[in-house]
Amino acid sequence: MPITPTQKIWMDGELVDWADAKIHVLSHTLHYGSGVFEGIRAYPTAQGLAVFRLDDHIRRLMASAHIMMIDVPYSVEQLIGATAEVARVNGLQDGCYLRPLVYLGYGEMGLNPLPAPVHVSIATWPWGTYLGEEALERGVSVKISSWRRHDPNAAPTAAKSVGMYVNSSLAKVEALKGGYDEAVLLASDGRVSECTGENIFIVRDGVLLTPPSSDAGTLDGITQDTVETLARDMGVEVRHEALIRTDLYLADEAFLTGTAAELTPIRAVDDRTVGAGTPGPVTAELQRLYFSTVRGELDRYKDWLHLVD
Ligand code: PMP
Repeated sequence: MPITPTQKIWMDGELVDWADAKIHVLSHTLHYGSGVFEGIRAYPTAQGLAVFRLDDHIRRLMASAHIMMIDVPYSVEQLIGATAEVARVNGLQDGCYLRPLVYLGYGEMGLNPLPAPVHVSIATWPWGTYLGEEALERGVSVKISSWRRHDPNAAPTAAKSVGMYVNSSLAKVEALKGGYDEAVLLASDGRVSECTGENIFIVRDGVLLTPPSSDAGTLDGITQDTVETLARDMGVEVRHEALIRTDLYLADEAFLTGTAAELTPIRAVDDRTVGAGTPGPVTAELQRLYFSTVRGELDRYKDWLHLVD
């Protein structure tokens, strides 16, 4: 997806012009994948632009850095303020995607990241529906990947770290080349884990099921948590339960969740239609509630919004 340049990018406390946001080619992260990052969205609301669950995203960024033993030279409060400032100064009132990145810079080489200088950048750009407008309405077709998700004892799946995404990219390319929209990765024990940048849910007999992060090696998704809250509040039982691939084939409904992909129905898994092949009632209602929540239309969930104006 081509990126549309915006005006300013926050780099180590300064707002720099988009075209000047450059780093040295010998930056550590570029060679060894040693950074951590976040993906956040801001949506238009009646009160103006609001970043969704900003605190939770910055806290997860810090948790990722902690796992990777990176000392971030800013506090949670400073990064919340800086992210909101980036959203504000770029004036993308129709909504935007925000990308804080903690990266290791120039000055050290070799696999030990600890002596490398730590930098933070926060960029934003308008990013429409990640998997396409049609995907939101009609659902996507997914394929079980031949690539397994990282074993958490080989690479920490709880950290949103730069290098981890080699695994997701391989699975994404394989799925796209095969004519599918997205990949589902299995954990090393063969249980369902997650998609390349999204968590996965199924609905079976009215119960909402998603793999437990601890043994499926998934990222604890903030959208996943949001959707679980919305489901419980509408009286739907939610369980974290190990799933195998045929659970996906036989599900009544299935969907994926992520900040970029939002809540996207799954219409087929490995060429097998899920349910009726169109978004089911629980999926459709949760999707409606999700968009109402992020756009500030539901008072009950207003605490999740961080207004930037
Ligand atoms: N899993 C992976 C591997 C991801 O990269 C993402 C996107 N951050 C998710 C799940 C979904 O997380 P969230 O809902 O917090 O965006």
